[in-house]
Parts: sequence; C-alpha cells; structure tokens
Amino acid sequence: MAERAAETIRPRRGGVFEYAPAPESRSIVDIKSSYGLFIAGEFVESIDGRPFKTISPATEEVLAEVTEAGPQDVDRAISSARAAYTAYWAPMRPADRSKYLFRIARIIQERSRELAVLESLDNGKPIRESRDVDIPLVAAHFFYYAGWADKLPYAGFGPNPRPLGVAGQVIPWNFPLLMLAWKIAPALACGNTVVLKPAETTPLTALTFAEICQQADLPPGVVNIVTGAGDTGRALVEHQDVDKVAFTGSTEVGRLIARSVAGSGKKVTLELGGKAANIIFDDAAIDQAVEGVVNGIFFNQGHVCCAGSRLLVQESVYDEVLTSLKRRLATLRVGDPLDKNTDIGAINSAEQLDRIRKLSEIGEEEGAERWSPPCELPDRGFWFAPTIFTGVSQAHRIAREEIFGPVLSVLSFRTPDEAVEKANNTPYGLSAGVWTEKGSRILSIAQRLRAGVVWANTFNKFDPSSPFGGYKESGYGREGGRHGLEAYLDV
Ligand code: NDP
Repeated sequence: MAERAAETIRPRRGGVFEYAPAPESRSIVDIKSSYGLFIAGEFVESIDGRPFKTISPATEEVLAEVTEAGPQDVDRAISSARAAYTAYWAPMRPADRSKYLFRIARIIQERSRELAVLESLDNGKPIRESRDVDIPLVAAHFFYYAGWADKLPYAGFGPNPRPLGVAGQVIPWNFPLLMLAWKIAPALACGNTVVLKPAETTPLTALTFAEICQQADLPPGVVNIVTGAGDTGRALVEHQDVDKVAFTGSTEVGRLIARSVAGSGKKVTLELGGKAANIIFDDAAIDQAVEGVVNGIFFNQGHVCCAGSRLLVQESVYDEVLTSLKRRLATLRVGDPLDKNTDIGAINSAEQLDRIRKLSEIGEEEGAERWSPPCELPDRGFWFAPTIFTGVSQAHRIAREEIFGPVLSVLSFRTPDEAVEKANNTPYGLSAGVWTEKGSRILSIAQRLRAGVVWANTFNKFDPSSPFGGYKESGYGREGGRHGLEAYLDV
C-alpha cells in the first residue's frame, strides 16, 4: 500500500503533489451512432437537412452523427409545438404542468452521472464541474420552475398572466444542458411550448433531454429539439409562427436576431457577451480573493459570459496578488475532462481555440506581458494553457473584447473611483466582482457598477431563484427567479 502510494503520489515541481489519473468511467453513457430530430415526441428523420458529426474536443474522436435541420424540419417542429400548445399544454391545469416539470427534475437527478459524463465528453469541460455545478443546477432549475407553474397569479404580474405561445430558443455551447434548463423550464412552467436549437458542437445532452421528456411522458410536441448550425437557428427565430425568441450567445448574432425580429411582435430576450471586472481592494482577504479570481476566469476554461476576465487590483496589493495568483495557477491541472482531478479541460472547438490564440497574440503585439505556468498540453484535441496578461491598458483589445477562454487581463487602480470608472469602461454590463472586507464599501461600489449581477467576496455563484441578465451590449431581459417568468408571460 505504502509502495503504491509512493508510486502514485509523486511530488511535482514546486513541491506540489502529482495526482494519479482518476478517470470517471464513460460506460454509463450510451451514445447512439446517429440521432434524428426530436419532433412531436419522437426522434424523426430529417426532411431537408443533412448529417454532421459531433466530436469530443479533448480527443477529436467522433462521438455521433447528428442532423442539421433544414427549414422544412424547423417548420415541422414549430407546427408540432403549436399543435401541442393549442390542444393541451396551454389549457392544462397548471398543477398538472407542474407535475411534469417535477418529474423531469427528478429524472435529471436520477440520470445525473450519465448527463455529467456526456456533457464532459461533448463539451470538454471537467467532470468535476459538470458533475458538481452544471447538472445539479439543471435539476434545480426544473424543481424551481415546477414550483411556480401553479402560482403564476401570485408572481406579481397581475391576476391572470397568460402564456405567449410557441418559444423559439437558441443556446450556446458553453453550458449546453444548463442553458437548455434556463430556457425550457420557465417556458413550460408558464404554459408555452418550445422548439430549441442546441449549439452545433454540443448537441448530445439536449438529445438525451429529449429522451428524458419521453421518459417523463411529456405530451408530444411540448418540447421539440432541432439540432443544427447557425442557419437552423436563423430559420427558427425568423419563423413567423414563433411568439417568443430566447437567445444566448455572441453579441454579434444577438444583434442580427434583434434586427430580424424587430417589428414582428415577437417577444425577445437576449443574453449576450461580457467582459466582467473583478475588483480587489487592498483590505480584501487576498488568498480568498485569488481563489475567487481563479474561479472567476478559469472555471469552464473561461467559456463563461459572466467570467471575471478583467482583474482590477489596488496598487498597494498588486505585487502580493500577482505572486499568489501565479503560485495558484501553477497548481492547476489541465487535461482529460473525465479525470476527476482535472481543473481545466479542453477548449470547445478548433474555431474557439483559434480565436483565443489570435486575441492572445494581439495582446502581446499591443505590448502586454504574457505569462502561463509550465503546463504540458495533450497532443490531440484543443487546448490552451491558463494565461494572464499584465501591463494591460484599457485601450488593449484583450481588455475590451470577450476572449471566452482561460485568459485573464490584469489592470491596476489607486482609488475606488478609478476602480468603478475602469470597471464600467466596457460596452458590456453582465457581471462584476468586488473583494473587500468592508460591507459598506461593497454596497457603495456595487451600486455604482453597471452590471446585471455583482458578486461580493465570491464569483460565479448561480441559483435558480436569482435573476440573471445584462445591460448595454450584454443584452436585455432577465432569466432565472421570479423575474424570469415575465419573459414567458403575456403581462
Ligand atoms: P454564436 O452566437 O454564433 O452561437 C450561439 C448560438 O446561436 C448557437 O446555437 C449558434 O449555432 C446559433 N446561431 C449562430 N448564428 C445564428 C443566427 N444567425 N441566427 C440564429 N442563431 C444563430 O456564438 P459562437 O458559438 O459562434 O461563439 C462566438 C463567440 O461568441 C465566442 O468566441 C464568444 O466570445 C461568444 N459567445 C458568448 C456566449 C455567451 O454566453 N455570452 C456563448 C457563446 C459564445 P452554431 O452552434 O451552429 O454556431
């Protein structure tokens, strides 16, 4: 035993222990070789689409063949959602709708390990995160909105709030199943039916969710899943029989969608990009703050719209924070997403890796200083070492644009006013973080930050009861909590 321990736990450079691999088994997942579209409660063949492959970003192994839905497929899915809306979902007793949502929530809990493994395989995120963050939050969202389904007259939107009809929902690849839950749970609770398009690179958990709908005996057509790429998304949001559009993704596509639905009468929520400031004052608990900074930008490889991608440090503690941060980064383990010891998994796609690389090169060209800990990256798959840039000015592109990767830009400030000014100096306004020991400072700074969510002495904490959304180019509308119901109700 002692011999084995000596063999598997070896001290590493810097005195940190090396961990033996602890891979989660993938045998719990049964990935089919090909998937159709989920329409009217069944997996059906496409009418005018074509097949494409979804791969594991960690190994580039093909996981399955899925269908890129064409316009006729989208039309069929929307007709099915309309029929289900009119025939039974809208007229159904709210308490019965609630039962279906509770049932879905419980099945998600029962199948949580399978969903976590599948999410890590298709997305590249560490199993530690999909298992402990994504999937528990997915179940929590369904439980939360199941509870609202029969209490809508008491939600503060008048005595008789009514559903909108058919919701067309388009989601990104960074939190595939969680974004699905954010969209589908409130929509169904309010009596709408949905057609959802998952991102091209991460369709598998949405297709498994379709199986869960079958398992829960959800009436056919209430949930429809059409896989595909941007064109499928466009056909969905532009379809004339969609009453509500919900989109999470890039500001660029959000703008296109806003333009295309303008004047159509469709209700829209857009949850777009961010460039959040994480502000450390000199009275903060530095070790705790550094941990929060790491969680703020390296969680989910930095593929997080509300990531704390700009670190603002008060000058008097700048050196101390930087030293601690670098020491902590040297302990992060990058590698196999299914290994339970992994902190940073694979970048979701070759395109995203390319974008992160390009913006990082631009950061160097513009004069910022680049640093990464010594870090061996796997030969196959898409990988990027955790990176920090110091000497960053506000004019640098790495301080203004959403990199959406494990890259942190560090700036400094002297006074609280300067911190607020720098934090708000962005076209975005999704989130921010404040680290200080003084409660009064938290309150005064939080009030002045133009961000939808402000975390104090923590970062990236989510709860279904708490609303989420942005200002300015981060989009409009709120998801989550009681506020999230409004987006799906005629009030
Ligand atoms: P997109 O905004 O292109 O993708 C989001 C979703 O919209 C996907 O399902 C996508 O399909 C779909 N889509 C694409 N074009 C259209 C369209 N014209 N009409 C309707 N739906 C459409 O993001 P990307 O995946 O291309 O990522 C690009 C950048 O966007 C990232 O580098 C990152 O900076 C940012 N981003 C921000 C996110 C956020 O939550 N704030 C999430 C994802 C990305 P498909 O999957 O086929 O592209």
